[in-house]
Amino acid sequence: MVGKRRPLIHLKSPDEIDAMERCGRIVAALFAEIEPQVRPGVSTGSLDRFVDDFVRSHDGAVPAFKGLYGFPGSACISINEEVVHGIPSSRRLRAGDVVSIDVGVKQRGWCADSAYTFPVGEIGAEAASLMEVTYQALAAAVAATRPDHHVGDIGAAVVETVRPSGYAIIRDLVGHGIGRAIHEEPQVSNIGRAGFGVPLQAGMVLAIEPMLAVGTDEIRTLSDRWTVTSLDGSLSAHFEHTVAVTETGPRILTGGGIWDGAAMVAGRPDPEGTGATVPQP
Ligand code: MG
Ligand code: MG
Repeated sequence: MVGKRRPLIHLKSPDEIDAMERCGRIVAALFAEIEPQVRPGVSTGSLDRFVDDFVRSHDGAVPAFKGLYGFPGSACISINEEVVHGIPSSRRLRAGDVVSIDVGVKQRGWCADSAYTFPVGEIGAEAASLMEVTYQALAAAVAATRPDHHVGDIGAAVVETVRPSGYAIIRDLVGHGIGRAIHEEPQVSNIGRAGFGVPLQAGMVLAIEPMLAVGTDEIRTLSDRWTVTSLDGSLSAHFEHTVAVTETGPRILTGGGIWDGAAMVAGRPDPEGTGATVPQP
């Protein structure tokens, strides 16, 4: 009889989680630095060069996505209907775009992974609303990342948060465990059932990353073999934090400290789309 496959989950010691947080702070500082540069006219390629230079300016740190499975950039930069894995290029941002920047950093053998969606100039009401709901979905998912919960509670929190909006949760892309490798077990679905899935326990570290679209939950991959877009071309947003499960609850390693709601509330995007999404370094 073949049983259900059990994911091999590497638990991290408190010292190891501290090392991951040092890595995560580089990512958090990067987002604070890059936010003012996300403006109409800037190319995604120049943002990518900034990411590469910024990360490498920290002792021993390298951009973890560069060359990962053959990815050419240091950041995944995805505009509008692009959900994830956009390749940096000479394409220039335009006012009204929403752009998701997803960055992994590896330093001294440990990884951190985080993504933010930024408004470019003045954005429309739908785009601002989508960003806000996606961000709140991440906040709820992080709050559910506790040792008395299961992985399914994380996706259930996303579902509950998103439901009133009617936006689609991209189900074919998932969050993941993270540690010495950027992608570890378990998978963290954004569609979950409370009380189901792998039991969460102190020492697990998860990259939690809800991805939403205004229209359909279906996606397709472009002919560049990387860029994933919504199938119907509707706007998409994506936020991600690396989060450690501790005895006392979730600890955001890419946002700066123990989760008490304050860090993410302070970093929430302006629902009018006129302000910045700035993580707390
Ligand atoms: Mg990421
Ligand atoms: Mg990730």
